[in-house]
Amino acid sequence: MKKNTAITIGLMWLLLAFSFTQMIGVAIVNGNEASIIWAVNHSYPNDYETQATNYTCEVIYDYFDDNGAYERLENNYVEATESSAFYAEVENCEDNYSYATVFYKGHSCLPWGPCYEGGSAHYHYRLADNDGFEPETNQIWDNWIHDKLNNLVHGFVFLWSCFDDEMGGVVNFDHAYGFPASFFNRSDLSADAYAYLGSDNSDVCYIGFTNVSKNFVEPTGYGDPEYNYGDFCRTFYGYATSSSAYTIRLSLLYSSLITIGCSYSLSDLYQGYNVTINNVDYFSRQVVYGDANEDLPD
Ligand SMILES: [Zn+2]
Repeated sequence: MKKNTAITIGLMWLLLAFSFTQMIGVAIVNGNEASIIWAVNHSYPNDYETQATNYTCEVIYDYFDDNGAYERLENNYVEATESSAFYAEVENCEDNYSYATVFYKGHSCLPWGPCYEGGSAHYHYRLADNDGFEPETNQIWDNWIHDKLNNLVHGFVFLWSCFDDEMGGVVNFDHAYGFPASFFNRSDLSADAYAYLGSDNSDVCYIGFTNVSKNFVEPTGYGDPEYNYGDFCRTFYGYATSSSAYTIRLSLLYSSLITIGCSYSLSDLYQGYNVTINNVDYFSRQVVYGDANEDLPD
């Protein structure tokens, strides 16, 4: 019964979306696009989360493959998610492609610092690579991503990992901190791009998590059988890659309607949720920075 309702709602939104397509037309983007998928296979709470991570990377890859516009499409799950490969791929995309999008599923290290480069104290952010958290060579550093920028082709970055919501800042041409500032070379992005229906004119969008990210295998509490947050992530990419009519905002909305049973703005991802670790409560939520009117080129 619930499933039928979900499908009905999904179809309603599909029809609505197609009428949007008619109204605004389909953006034509020429150029060569890159989509790079990264994930690690360690330190998850159970094997199911590891399997869901592997499966989700494959599904996202297939969605981009079906789209057909992505001349460079890489699923670097497990072995290839090495920090050195990550920097090399950022550089390759910057030097050879007109647009790049990145998805990463894994873990953050604790912020590093303070660093006083440029005169004011700031902290650096790091993702774990597939070898683990330590030593530092296993970490994907914000500043080393920024170091590889050249043509500013990165348009959409989606990090499904904890503690990666720091907008950061650009200290100078070869020093930045925080993942948004490091991927996009700017830190003036709209901090609530989903709610802000206008454009911040950044042409970029970033999705991350304040504090603790959801596990893919966690049920959303909706559907029969219940959907989980992996379903949310995959459904988001299903919409986002299917047509440029599906902006990042619309893709979040439709995925939430189908897999969480409410609009994204009413979902716990947007509203926030508490996670208790070692008796400490972490108020956590997904963040969307920049311009959610952006779409993935096709
Ligand atoms: Zn620094």
